[in-house]
Amino acid sequence: MADEHDHEHDHEHGEHEHGEHEHEEHEHDAELQAEAEAEARRRFALSQIRQYGDPALRMRAHEVEDFDEDLGRLVERMTTLMHEAQGVGLAATQVGVLRRVFVFEPDDEGPRAIVNPVIVERDDEAETDDEGCLSLQGVRVPVERSIRIVLEGKDPSGEDVRYELDAYGSRVTQHEFDHLDGVLIIDRTDDEHRKEALATLRPRAVLR
Ligand SMILES: [Zn+2]
Repeated sequence: MADEHDHEHDHEHGEHEHGEHEHEEHEHDAELQAEAEAEARRRFALSQIRQYGDPALRMRAHEVEDFDEDLGRLVERMTTLMHEAQGVGLAATQVGVLRRVFVFEPDDEGPRAIVNPVIVERDDEAETDDEGCLSLQGVRVPVERSIRIVLEGKDPSGEDVRYELDAYGSRVTQHEFDHLDGVLIIDRTDDEHRKEALATLRPRAVLR
């Protein structure tokens, strides 16, 4: 075995000339390495997010009463998970915590967290677009959402917050808000897409 290894080692070195070419190749390797690491982090994050079939995803979360360190830690953990899973929103029910809190990133101004959210205004005008969910991997279905909503609630320190959201931000927020009531995108799509989605999800649910 040792001989074989030495041989391979020599062979590798023999193939490269020193200089710019090798430098470029190393940069390319570093990029691939970074991509592989991000993918590993994404998979690990997804493994910590409840997947379809988990009863927590179907439960209604409770109002938060204590704006304490525990809540701060939960929000921090959820924000990290959302980023590592490469998502734009994550609700507490998706990590098995039945509290009314979700994190979301509706634009490029950074992540936000809202506690005890209430949709206080909802436009009659709606739009249908495809949505995915970190808890329903491999599924994308068309969902109709109000184009504009106004959301009120508290931030993790207990201060009042109010967000006026439209387009993408409005869609993300309504999706996360649904999670707090145990509602999933397959409940909001048409029969045909629901059937298709369930066919994708079912084998996985059985294996759990
Ligand atoms: Zn979701």
